[in-house]
Amino acid sequence: MFQKTPKKIPVKGVAKREVKETICSECRKNKPYANKTKRLCSSCVKKLQVQKAKEKKDRERRKKAETVTQAKLDQVTSWLIRAVYEEKCHACGKEMQRKHLQCCHFVSRTKTATRFDLHNMLPGCQVCNMYTPHHVWELGKYINKLWGEDKTEILLELAGKQLKLNNADRKEIYVIYKQSLDRIETNDYSLKERIEILKETYFKYLDIVQPLIK
Ligand SMILES: [Zn+2]
Ligand SMILES: [Zn+2]
Repeated sequence: MFQKTPKKIPVKGVAKREVKETICSECRKNKPYANKTKRLCSSCVKKLQVQKAKEKKDRERRKKAETVTQAKLDQVTSWLIRAVYEEKCHACGKEMQRKHLQCCHFVSRTKTATRFDLHNMLPGCQVCNMYTPHHVWELGKYINKLWGEDKTEILLELAGKQLKLNNADRKEIYVIYKQSLDRIETNDYSLKERIEILKETYFKYLDIVQPLIK
């Protein structure tokens, strides 16, 4: 059966609205909600957003501090090598300040098993390191004189092997290298004494990596 919808009765004047209290769950002020589900006013929403962003940043910063990347380990290794030896290029002999020297590898840094091997590096100038491939043979002579006549042979053989380091391994090596670096930097050691420290550091490094070299 057809039913007629009742006619709407026009409302005169302004409808009286019921005033609902909107109390912010955070600051307890009576302000309109910007987030209805959490019952928060706009200033508290903003405050919480800022706080969350800060927490996220802190987490990332903490995580970054715990991570020892290959680059970070390269850096401390480089400073250690330059702190130990004389302030000169060990390939061409040119004297220069520590900060201008580079950490030159005898076996290329691309080889994993010798990348952080302290016997494989000496300070050198940028020209030798970047543009003079035969400089490695000058480094090799020096390495053999320091660490034994067959040292370069050993390094070249080692270069064919693989060394995979995880973050914990890198961190362990980093701590050892950093300790030695700090020790050298805060004391007035002779070259001979500094090389002795490098030797000790090298043995600690070997303890970590020897079981990992495949
Ligand atoms: Zn609030
Ligand atoms: Zn040089």
